[in-house]
Amino acid sequence: MEHTNGGGTTTRAAVASQQVPASAAACAAMDPDARHRACVEFRAKLSRDTGVNLTAAICESLLGLVFGNEGGEQASLEGNPGQFYTCLGDAIAKQSLPLVLPDHLQIAWWCYYEAAEVHTHPAGMRSLAGSLFHGEGVTEDPAQAAIWYQKAADLGDAPSKAALGLFLVNGSGVAKDAARGFALLREAVDQGHGMALVVVAQCYLKGEGVEKDAAHGVYILRQVINQGDISKPKAETALAICYMNGDGVEADTVQAALWCQRAADVGNAEAIQILPLIRTCNFCSSSPAREHCERCRKVRYCNAVCQAAHWKRETDPHKGHCRRAAEASQQEAGGASTSAHQ
Ligand SMILES: [Zn+2]
Ligand SMILES: [Zn+2]
Repeated sequence: MEHTNGGGTTTRAAVASQQVPASAAACAAMDPDARHRACVEFRAKLSRDTGVNLTAAICESLLGLVFGNEGGEQASLEGNPGQFYTCLGDAIAKQSLPLVLPDHLQIAWWCYYEAAEVHTHPAGMRSLAGSLFHGEGVTEDPAQAAIWYQKAADLGDAPSKAALGLFLVNGSGVAKDAARGFALLREAVDQGHGMALVVVAQCYLKGEGVEKDAAHGVYILRQVINQGDISKPKAETALAICYMNGDGVEADTVQAALWCQRAADVGNAEAIQILPLIRTCNFCSSSPAREHCERCRKVRYCNAVCQAAHWKRETDPHKGHCRRAAEASQQEAGGASTSAHQ
């Protein structure tokens, strides 16, 4: 049975989409004349550039969303067009309107392109990169995505540093350069990007871009979990995989299942995916295995029959290492806080 330390599509999406905290709705503060002017100009420009014609009513609803959404109070077509087009793209991409826009992802992509290319807006560049990476409203192009993440990172955008760092570590969209990826991830962490810290931990676990130190990777994951921000479920899933594989900790399927369950309970997609694998019987490999060894609590079984068979199995009998595992279990319970890596 093999497990990886993440790095799938969900990981990349999560890193790229970590948003600034929601700010108060500013719809009421928006000058109606300015909104009307923005609407007329946006409709004309969209029609000219893309041939898509929106009705005035749809346009007004969209602008209402923009100025009511997070970051919307800084958006203005005259004063801050980059922010304006980024927020507009987000409103269209989320399609949080009581109507269905035709080709809404293409329109969102066009908005991001306007924000990124014309107005050099970092968040617009980041959203454009995300669209290119996922092929949303545009042909999938990871290499172009990396270029836009780089441009936004050069302007100091922390989520883009985190996303590009992950690209470099994984070699997706760019030639693999784990050391440069790790450095970018560290920069994002220093700017307060919590999700990047989970990836930094995974770099320590795998020795990607930094000297391998699995115990330190686990230490960082526990730190993230204790902080309890939105990165917590991702860190819990990564810790579960450590317990599963014995990376930086003694292998322990009960602990693995516990951490994985916590992340799955709040909807973490990767945790939901691997939970059945973690709850696998140590003898027959069926899942889910509901019982565990009462003595060491480190291995799972379907039932007493599988447990007895595993106890005396010819190759790798559990009888041989149960006592050692039980002792390790007790030590862990007694001295968990003193063993923390510095
Ligand atoms: Zn079994
Ligand atoms: Zn045991």
